Amino acid sequence: MMMKTIPVFSPDLGIDTIRHLSETLEIGWLGMGKVTKEFEERISEFLELDGRFVVATNTATSALHLALRGIGVGEGDEVITPSFNCVADQHAIKMAGGEPVMCDILEENLGIDCKKAEELISEKTKAIIPLHYGGIPCNQKEVFDLAKKYNLRVIEDCCHAFGTRINGKKLGSYGDIAFFSFDAVKTLTSIDGGCIILKNKEEFEKIQHMRLLGMDKDTLERYKNKRSWVYDVDTEGYRYHLNNVMATVGISQIKRIDEMIESRRSVCKSYSEAFKGLQKIEVPNTDFENISSFNYVIRVYDNKRQDLIDHLKLLGIETGIHWTPVHKFSYFSESKKGDLTITEKIADEILTLPLHSNMKQESIQRVIDGVTSFYK
Ligand SMILES: *Cc1c(COP(=O)(O)O)cnc(C)c1O
Repeated sequence: MMMKTIPVFSPDLGIDTIRHLSETLEIGWLGMGKVTKEFEERISEFLELDGRFVVATNTATSALHLALRGIGVGEGDEVITPSFNCVADQHAIKMAGGEPVMCDILEENLGIDCKKAEELISEKTKAIIPLHYGGIPCNQKEVFDLAKKYNLRVIEDCCHAFGTRINGKKLGSYGDIAFFSFDAVKTLTSIDGGCIILKNKEEFEKIQHMRLLGMDKDTLERYKNKRSWVYDVDTEGYRYHLNNVMATVGISQIKRIDEMIESRRSVCKSYSEAFKGLQKIEVPNTDFENISSFNYVIRVYDNKRQDLIDHLKLLGIETGIHWTPVHKFSYFSESKKGDLTITEKIADEILTLPLHSNMKQESIQRVIDGVTSFYK
């Protein structure tokens, strides 16, 4: 009998999503509207925001582009981010007119190395984009301290970490600017989607206008499923809003988000428990207690990664590599960069194992048996 392949990612959508969708389609207001607003309110509630603002967008890539333009990043400005990042971030910096400056990471959490970041700061540096890889916090306080010392903005890429807490507080509920992704494979999906969290009201309003063609009055009318025919365009504009249909999917997901995060946490814990005795691989450096994980990533030593990938494939288990460091791509090969020793090293070791919300026990066991059998 053929075994069913276990994919790396698998959405957890149910009948509830279909019900929500058919209601929204019946109402017939498909563009940005009431549902978008409700999704923003639910994001705010989930992240326990107090005095902060949410702007929902069609992707996280556009969320970051808006955030960068909203704080004035433009021609010639430099933005520091790890090379070990989703290439979306480097593209967004370029779209804003800026130059990505690629920094190394730390072995302990695969987050930005602030000592090396400091060496990359120049007169042109405007912002730092740290990343909480795999939902595991980077050394956030060091990033904030560095930003303060050099008067830089911090835009936290929280795309892997919807619900991760540091010192009891959820990412996005404090700090400078944060953004999240709700794309097809993320912990919470709206098929495609994202959001920006802001604390400054003026920046919030500007970014809200920029999100939909720079129109000043339209957002508030659309939030009532109406249009404004009299408006000014008071800033540059994009078409980056989240529509009612996508927001509907997002709402159906956020209603179940605690259960989804908890179920992923339990898979991560089972994996780490099962693998921690294996000498030739390394599990993430966390007990997952306050972590909301998008992906579970091991490091495979002794140049055995491809063999392990092939072994798991034969057992019907898919794996992934997140990511190829961005400085290795031809388009970004000329970008400014610092010493990338750790990035280079871990790039050949990382391996993403399947992780789903409400993953089947049988699948979890197959992954555990698959990895452990490779080392027997
Ligand atoms: C998914 C992801 C993005 C891009 O998100 P989209 O919604 O697909 O645009 C950016 N950064 C990180 C770390 C991601 O994982």
